[in-house]
Amino acid sequence: TKFSELGLSAKVLSAVEAAGYSEPTPIQAEAIPHALQRRDVLGIAQTGTGKTASFVLPMITLLEQGRARARMPRTLIVEPTRELAAQVEESFNKYGKNHKLNVALLIGGVSFEDQERKLDRGVDVLIATPGRLLDHFERGKLLLTGVDILVIDEADRMLDMGFIPDIERICKLLPFTRQTLFFSATMPPEITRLTEQFLQNPVRVEV
Ligand code: AMP
Repeated sequence: TKFSELGLSAKVLSAVEAAGYSEPTPIQAEAIPHALQRRDVLGIAQTGTGKTASFVLPMITLLEQGRARARMPRTLIVEPTRELAAQVEESFNKYGKNHKLNVALLIGGVSFEDQERKLDRGVDVLIATPGRLLDHFERGKLLLTGVDILVIDEADRMLDMGFIPDIERICKLLPFTRQTLFFSATMPPEITRLTEQFLQNPVRVEV
């Protein structure tokens, strides 16, 4: 499979070319066309398989239509740690270098005020850890009713860190008609239950 066969936009393909990738990894080849068709995806994949680009590339393509409104992020990515959240932000910068995307990071250890200023400007991609996301929501500075695409990344690590109740709360704050892209390296029963609760007819991609 070639990147050019997956349905990605020309601007995204040019960023992929600039990154020097010759061909998609298996999870990218399988997941990207379904994500672009607006299907829910359950990706069972470890770090190092190229899973980040498997959701970032189709998201950037889909975000080319429409624009952000104040305090209503268009997409939300939930990560278990600050480090992973920062890495995903770097991926959006790299693959979105031909786009004018507003990307905001909501992680702990940083002032609320700077993060709120970014939310006010309108956000295309919100990348957050669960606790800080819910803190912002409770301060009333964030509306999640405009989120069209949700990514839950490293779900089994969220389980290990005790974040499942937070994830359930977050999912319930989002619109029912949204797309969900869900990634986990392993599928313990608690994670299977979560996917049954929050994914709709997902395509299962296992690498
Ligand atoms: P990830 O599994 O998302 O953490 O990605 C692991 C590494 O693979 C990252 O450093 C990416 O830059 C790199 N990568 C992602 N997709 C490809 C690809 N199609 N070809 C070569 N390297 C890639």
